Amino acid sequence: MNFFIQRSELRDIYDKVVANERISEADALRLFETKDLNALGAIADFMRQRKVGNRASYIVNRYINYSNYCILSCEFCSFSRKKRDADGFQFSIEEIVAKAREASKIGITELHIVGGLHPSLPFRFYTDMLKALKALDARLQLKCFTAIEILHLAWLAKKSVVETLTELKAAGLDSLTGGGAEIFRKEVRSRIAKGKESAEEYLDVHRQWHKLGGRSTCTMLYGHVETLADRVDHLRQLRALQDETHGFTAMIPLAYQPEDNDIPVEHPPTGFDSLRTIAVSRIYLDNFPHITAYWIGLGMKLAQVALSYGADDIHGTIIEEHIFHMAGATSPQLQTEADMIKAIRETGLTPVQRNTFYEPIKILESAPAAEAVENTEHSKVLEDNLATA
Ligand code: SF4
Repeated sequence: MNFFIQRSELRDIYDKVVANERISEADALRLFETKDLNALGAIADFMRQRKVGNRASYIVNRYINYSNYCILSCEFCSFSRKKRDADGFQFSIEEIVAKAREASKIGITELHIVGGLHPSLPFRFYTDMLKALKALDARLQLKCFTAIEILHLAWLAKKSVVETLTELKAAGLDSLTGGGAEIFRKEVRSRIAKGKESAEEYLDVHRQWHKLGGRSTCTMLYGHVETLADRVDHLRQLRALQDETHGFTAMIPLAYQPEDNDIPVEHPPTGFDSLRTIAVSRIYLDNFPHITAYWIGLGMKLAQVALSYGADDIHGTIIEEHIFHMAGATSPQLQTEADMIKAIRETGLTPVQRNTFYEPIKILESAPAAEAVENTEHSKVLEDNLATA
């Protein structure tokens, strides 16, 4: 047994985990409240190892925000703009396809596409966009839209959520994104994201999508005005839906970025808080195959450490990120594939390039010299992409 666990107040929770016994909400709260980060990390690492063995994954992907115009004004959001704002933007389908074509030179396997709740783009725009991207390359996996975007599109198209999802799927949608979950507790939600969908609506969009055979990720935005009990409540609702549908591929805890938004936060997320949140997510969400450390919000160095605290994925190359950077994130806008491989390899884990569904594409047992050469090429294409973004 790990030295830190042997001496820890968390020993009983470790025993439950070893016995494959599900931990309770009270246990999860204890895990959040402990100062014993070493023991917490060791339990989460045990669970990670049991789920995925000696591997950690990344994805070669590109983000595209088709527009930042949004009819809502969530307090924590620094991304949305109104039509009157000088820095609002909206891309045509041709421009989106051009970005995808450029990124395909580095071998992306996924496009991650979200935007604001655009006031006037017709439903047809979204289905045509998906079809045009699939026509460019049928192998590209399209991970698009948050739950609130789906509700907005359903409203625009005057269709039910199921009809909307069915049409988007037929047009090429492969996966929903997990964004927009924030914190489910009503009181918190109405403070930070008034007017946004309820927890029930968020969960129901994912439920309907899973019932259609779709897969999605989910998130939790932590480190603002919520309590630790609110986080446990959030995780409880995610675990319950996963028991029902088994449709989530991964949970992605998102660290709140306090710089450029309207919510005054006394104690924004620290490294300690991020590591414990990832670790508790791993231990409590025993029915989730993967936990992602989102390097955009954490920084690559902390994301790398998170691989020893329960995470088994560090997300992707991304290339052009707006949402976190407009909120003040200071991480770079992209990572090369070789940098992600290096970050994983340094932790002693085997890097695995994955697809949108977290299935392995390439397992990199050992080839450091070849990776270094690839890095030069890859960096150049990424920089060209950024220059034209
Ligand atoms: S979080 Fe989403 S829905 Fe809310 S204002 Fe920002 S873009 Fe709009």
